[in-house]
Amino acid sequence: MRNTKQKELILTIINQSYSHPTAIEIYKECRKEISNISLGTVYRNLNLLVDQLQIKRIKMPNNVDRYDKMENRHIHFICTVCNKIIDLEDLKEHPTMINENKVFDYEMNFKGICKNCLEKE
Ligand SMILES: [Zn+2]
Ligand SMILES: [Zn+2]
Repeated sequence: MRNTKQKELILTIINQSYSHPTAIEIYKECRKEISNISLGTVYRNLNLLVDQLQIKRIKMPNNVDRYDKMENRHIHFICTVCNKIIDLEDLKEHPTMINENKVFDYEMNFKGICKNCLEKE
């Protein structure tokens, strides 16, 4: 029962966030509701939620994974200089078949240098 509550809380935090939080940021949010929750528990539940396709994990160039909600599928632009994630609009059409293979999901992450970092160069 307690485990379910922790998982639900983590899912709610991610679903209400627009900032693509890290595990540490999610952990800090969790502590406001469940003061004795451990970082290990947060990591374990994040892995579980990713495996159950309830949230998305975004692999980052600095190896600090970020998390995002499943709803409103969109494309990401990831800045390799400041590690900012920018949400882009999704494809106009969702492919359902590619080379006779059936598609049910996709993830697209563009990597490069964001506008702000380009101006600083
Ligand atoms: Zn940048
Ligand atoms: Zn996103």
